[in-house]
Amino acid sequence: MPNWEVSSVVAVVPPVHPRKLAKVPFVELSEGRLQGVVSSGSDIERVYVSAIAADTHGFSCSTNNNRPCGGLSSWPCKHLHTLVDEAVLQYGAERVARFLRIEPADGVSSGGDIMGRLKGSVEKGGSAMVFSRFLRHLAYLELPANEEPIPELHWFPSTRGEGG
Ligand SMILES: [Zn+2]
Repeated sequence: MPNWEVSSVVAVVPPVHPRKLAKVPFVELSEGRLQGVVSSGSDIERVYVSAIAADTHGFSCSTNNNRPCGGLSSWPCKHLHTLVDEAVLQYGAERVARFLRIEPADGVSSGGDIMGRLKGSVEKGGSAMVFSRFLRHLAYLELPANEEPIPELHWFPSTRGEGG
């Protein structure tokens, strides 16, 4: 593999612990939210877009079609629990706790610890944006296997020019 090809692959942060991507294909600490995509337990076609705001701990969960999650009440649904568990695997409990401004973060060792310290309530919105980020994330993951020319990379020289 030529050098430029290696260096053009988007760096993905390796998880602290192995994760089951099928259950939570996407999780990130970004835009002031712990946010991600959680597979439905029953319907393979459906995913839930779940998020927790870092500042207010306001939480939200809806399907990729922007329908409200049926499991969401004044308490976080199982998708949010799953999301936090996976975030702990991906980033480590302490980093997730600090991101969510849980003090002290040192005593936090599991997703359950984090869920127990959230003090927010249900919040609307944000799902569409999280989901579009997920789709872009998928596009990047598929890059190495893609044989088609990639428009963003067209300015990389495929061959050395003769004239220099
Ligand atoms: Zn949910």
